[in-house]
Amino acid sequence: MKYQPVIGLEVHVQLKTDTKIFCGCSTQFGAEPNSQTCPVCLGLPGALPVLNKKVVEFAIKAGLSTNCSITPRSIFARKNYFYPDLPKGYQISQFENPICQHGWLDIKVEGDDLKRIGITRIHMEEDAGKLVHGDVSGLDDGSGVDLNRACTPLLEVVSEPDLRSSDEAVLYLKKLHQIVTWLGICDGNMEEGSFRCDANVSVMPVGSSTLGTRAEIKNVNSFKFVKQAIEYEIQRQIDLIEDGDTVVQETRLFDPNSCTTRSMRSKEEAHDYRYFPDPDLVPLVIGDEWIELVRSELPESPELRRQRFVTAMGLSEYDAEVLTASKPIAEYFEAGVGAHGNAKLVANWVMGEITRGLNDSGTTIETCPVAPSQLAELLKLIDSGTISGKIAKTVFDEMWRSGKAPHTIVEEQGLVQVSDSGAIESIIDEIIHANAGQVEEFRGGKEKVFGFFVGQVMRASKGKANPTVVNELLLRKLKG
Ligand SMILES: [Zn+2]
Repeated sequence: MKYQPVIGLEVHVQLKTDTKIFCGCSTQFGAEPNSQTCPVCLGLPGALPVLNKKVVEFAIKAGLSTNCSITPRSIFARKNYFYPDLPKGYQISQFENPICQHGWLDIKVEGDDLKRIGITRIHMEEDAGKLVHGDVSGLDDGSGVDLNRACTPLLEVVSEPDLRSSDEAVLYLKKLHQIVTWLGICDGNMEEGSFRCDANVSVMPVGSSTLGTRAEIKNVNSFKFVKQAIEYEIQRQIDLIEDGDTVVQETRLFDPNSCTTRSMRSKEEAHDYRYFPDPDLVPLVIGDEWIELVRSELPESPELRRQRFVTAMGLSEYDAEVLTASKPIAEYFEAGVGAHGNAKLVANWVMGEITRGLNDSGTTIETCPVAPSQLAELLKLIDSGTISGKIAKTVFDEMWRSGKAPHTIVEEQGLVQVSDSGAIESIIDEIIHANAGQVEEFRGGKEKVFGFFVGQVMRASKGKANPTVVNELLLRKLKG
């Protein structure tokens, strides 16, 4: 029997606000434990939450960018459960009437076909604190509670169970990641947990319309782990069914070391949380004016920018896709085009040398040591024939290392291209003189030897000879 996996994702997006969702404490990552807390996020009796307007604005941005409708009157609810990192004994979340509903995203599946993935809802909620185990306050084997993260604003983006493979799940996740980072509402840092997901996975026989029992894999925080966790889980469930066992509804944890999932607890149902409207917070009413104001502030979407790169700049679909992978890359590219003019040439360098440099040094485009204006200056030196394309790569490496301007490097290292035919001729004469055997071969019809001569001349000129002039002169002399 063949099985069809059915996957839905719940993604937690940590919002990049300066302060928490219901108090004025800082959201900065990595501070001393419990240094960013107050009576509200410590959950002290009598403390009252006040909603951060920025969080609502960010949620509307996310909703509009994922084709959701914005709920005119949404409410906050208490989700009751006890955990040591949740001092109030409940989490403030949204249950009925979440802020965004009924959206969708298109992902590009095999053969460039688009597949529409439904987004059930996006709701706002506060994060819990963090438990720290091990060396805590001088105890080797202690446990501590750090509430710096308590009350940090989150959006939970819940998809419909429309995903049918681990690859589709990763495509959807990457698309959502691109959108929230592009909007500037999330830093997207998966290692620090700013973007993490729970995957609901079940399998059913192909052709069936009855969903199987699902397991939820909690808190997976990399694209690779999501793929591995889902694949393991699909196989585990198929094995269970084939062996005549049943899949139980439960919450599971993914272990990246063994690439397996293991049971954490039996899965709660919504009624286990005894949701009810939070009496401390008034309903959130969002008028059309506010929605339109936020809409007017949205940046050009990755999709529209990609299309513009194709239609207005003449890039290929592939290049446009790569150059809109993130907003900083797109901005870098456009700044380079603004300073140089030739979009295709700038695209080649950004996708080639710049990307290679970033990968090798483990830096990001935001901290790229070569500014777009400097890259443009380098390309202009090639345009004017001052340096060859080959030497340009040497200059580029030096720009990357030293931060110096390209013309300074060219002057300092004497890299100006030699196009003067007299100078090149005398090098060629020497080479021809020293390699009589190869000259014979060439004249005897072995044309491949030509490459040897070009190499020798380029080496003798330390790469500075203009290749076009070298080719021309060499051919004339050898044939002569
Ligand atoms: Zn606080």
